[in-house]
Amino acid sequence: MSLLKIVHYPEPVLLTPGKPVGDSEFDNGMGAVVENMFETMYAAGGVGLAAPQVDISKRFFVMDVPGEDDTRQKAVFINPEIIHVEGEQVGEEGCLSFPGFFQVVQREMRVVVRAQDFKGETFEMDLKNLAARCVLHETDHCDGIVFLDRVSALKRELAKSKIKRLQKTGKWE
Ligand SMILES: [Zn+2]
Repeated sequence: MSLLKIVHYPEPVLLTPGKPVGDSEFDNGMGAVVENMFETMYAAGGVGLAAPQVDISKRFFVMDVPGEDDTRQKAVFINPEIIHVEGEQVGEEGCLSFPGFFQVVQREMRVVVRAQDFKGETFEMDLKNLAARCVLHETDHCDGIVFLDRVSALKRELAKSKIKRLQKTGKWE
């Protein structure tokens, strides 16, 4: 296993829709890259990590969030599609591609997502709260959308100018 480099906004790969994972790619070891992404996510202290964040312009992500009770919702979602949403929640989000940045983002409260696992098997998951928020955030990454795109124009401009200042002082790579 090896740790992957997490790219930071505004790297173009983060702003570009990922390509769907093709059938032949499942035969060529999706398992290895998925393991590396879990390791990278844990090392960075995140609960979700999408392929574009490690410079892979493809539609998949890994997630491991605590569930309602003592359960965990850990899975890889390849070619994710949100097939149902319901309700709304407003809460603070972070993103490993925006180190140190937190934004209050409105999302749906419940999602049903359909995706493939690392062997290519299709599954559906019905998720709420943090897990739903995470799936929506990471599916956005697969589509070239970042969480700054989900806040008001004013907040977005404030965040962008803050990042520009950090870049000038070499504190943002
Ligand atoms: Zn993110």
